[in-house]
Amino acid sequence: MNYQEWLMANSNAIQLTAFYGLFLFLGLLEVWVPLSRLLPDRKRRWTSNLGLTLLAVLVSRALPLSGYGTAIWASSAGVGLLNHVSMPSLIVLITAMVGRSLSSWLLHISMHKVQFLWRLHRIHHLDQIMDVTTTVRFHPVEIVMSIVTGILTVALLGLPLWALLIYDPFESAVRIFSHANIRLPEKVDRVLRLLISTPAMHRLHHSIFQKETDSNYGTIFSFWDRLFRTYTSPVGKGLARMPLGLEVKNNSRVQSFWWLLENPFLGVGEGKRRMK
Ligand SMILES: [Zn+2]
Repeated sequence: MNYQEWLMANSNAIQLTAFYGLFLFLGLLEVWVPLSRLLPDRKRRWTSNLGLTLLAVLVSRALPLSGYGTAIWASSAGVGLLNHVSMPSLIVLITAMVGRSLSSWLLHISMHKVQFLWRLHRIHHLDQIMDVTTTVRFHPVEIVMSIVTGILTVALLGLPLWALLIYDPFESAVRIFSHANIRLPEKVDRVLRLLISTPAMHRLHHSIFQKETDSNYGTIFSFWDRLFRTYTSPVGKGLARMPLGLEVKNNSRVQSFWWLLENPFLGVGEGKRRMK
C-alpha cells in the first residue's frame, strides 16, 4: 500500500483526529494558558457556537455535491489543469495547498467587501470573545458558499482526491489553532506566522475596529495577506484586552442561536464595524 492508498483508507480517522482531537487539545490549553481571561455568558455562547457547528456539519452532509466527489469525477472525465499535465506529486500537493487556500482567502475578503456577503459573514465576527468554539460559527448559507468555492477550485485545477485528503485536515487544524484563546510566546507566534495564521494574527481580524477587521484575512496561510498588502502585525496591539465583536443595537442578543440565524436579514446596524 503506497501513501496515497493509505490516505484514502484512513481519511475518516485523519479528519476526525485533526478536527475533534485538536479541538479538545486546544480547548484544554485555553484553560491552562489563556490569552484573554474574559468569559462573558459562556454557557449561551457555547450553545450557539456549537449549535452552528453542528448545523454546518449537517448542511455539508446534506449537500449532494462535495469536493471529494468532484475530484473523483474530474479525474475520470479529464477535467481541470492537473488532469491534462503530468506533474510530480510534490508539485500537485503544492498546487492543491496554494489553490485551495487562495480561493478560501478570496472568498473571505469578498465576505468583507460585498455588503450582502458581509451580512452573512458578520455572525462569525459578532462573537465578543474568541476560543475554539468560534472556529465554525458561520451562517449555513456561508457554509454552502464555502463548499461551492472549494468544488469550483477542485474542478478548475483538477485537484486529485489524495491531495485534498492532506489539505483538508491541515486547513481544519490551522483554523482551530488560529481561533484558539491561547497565549503563545511572541517568538513562537512570530516564527509560525511566517507561514500560517496564528492566534495573535487572527485575533486582530476579530477586533471591533474596521481597520483591523479588514486585514489578516488568511485563516490558513499568512502569506496571502503579505502578498496582497492586507497584513497587520499583531505586535503591540494589546491582544488580551482588545475589544472583539461588532456594534449592535442590543448586546444581549449576540449569543442567541436563532437571532444569529436571522441576523443576515436584519438591518446594517445589527453588526457594524467601529471606525477608529
Ligand atoms: Zn472575517
